[in-house]
Amino acid sequence: MTTEIEIVPCLTDNYAYLVQSGDYCAVVDPSEPAPVRAALARRGWKLTHILNTHHHLDHTGGNLELKQETGALVVGPGKDAARIPGIDIGVDERTGWEFDGRRVHVLEVPAHTRGAITFVIDGHAFTGDTLFTLGCGRLFEGDAAMMWESLSKLMTLPDDTLIWCGHEYTQSNGRFALTLEPGNGMLQERMISVNAARAAGKPTVPGSLGEEKLTNPFLRPYSAEIRKSLGMETASTVAVFGEIRERKNNF
Ligand code: ZN
Ligand code: FE
Repeated sequence: MTTEIEIVPCLTDNYAYLVQSGDYCAVVDPSEPAPVRAALARRGWKLTHILNTHHHLDHTGGNLELKQETGALVVGPGKDAARIPGIDIGVDERTGWEFDGRRVHVLEVPAHTRGAITFVIDGHAFTGDTLFTLGCGRLFEGDAAMMWESLSKLMTLPDDTLIWCGHEYTQSNGRFALTLEPGNGMLQERMISVNAARAAGKPTVPGSLGEEKLTNPFLRPYSAEIRKSLGMETASTVAVFGEIRERKNNF
């Protein structure tokens, strides 16, 4: 069995994803129905499931129309069921989920929202607004310690896990990353290909988790160079992480 992923650009900089396997097709985080409808028609896939990583409207705005048109079942964080439009199946770490006969891991990764989850299907992690390529989400419903714990959980996945995140933010994330770690050669190299992709109008997702660990400052609060940039050589991991998040808010 193979899983095919189709990127569906939505709104200004959101990504929804079609995940197809056998007779099943899920859409992850449909911001709006029209681009998802068009992608389904283009591929000739029939929607069976709608997956939500968190409740924000730019990730769930297409739920009800797509559900009504296709009869797809809505799958989302059970702990946040009240805020997921049209939810049919609430999932968490304990329940996991199953897609086309294979186990889907659900990781609870609160902080951007308290119900945020990541779905891991066949080596593909759909991280919503928790882990971005070269960045991480804002702390709307949690603090730095909670987000660091959530990201640490994601870091336990295999390094070849592909990260499909909720927005095309890589280029601006990377500009910020370079202010903290200008000497990171892997980061410099990655930004060359990110800039080239954006100049050609192409997506910069997915990234691999291994690549994120080497270049994403939010996964690198132990980096000596980052600590030096922040003047926090001896601070705790969470304190450094929190300061990186704070600086990004004002970047
Ligand atoms: Zn969000
Ligand atoms: Fe979002």
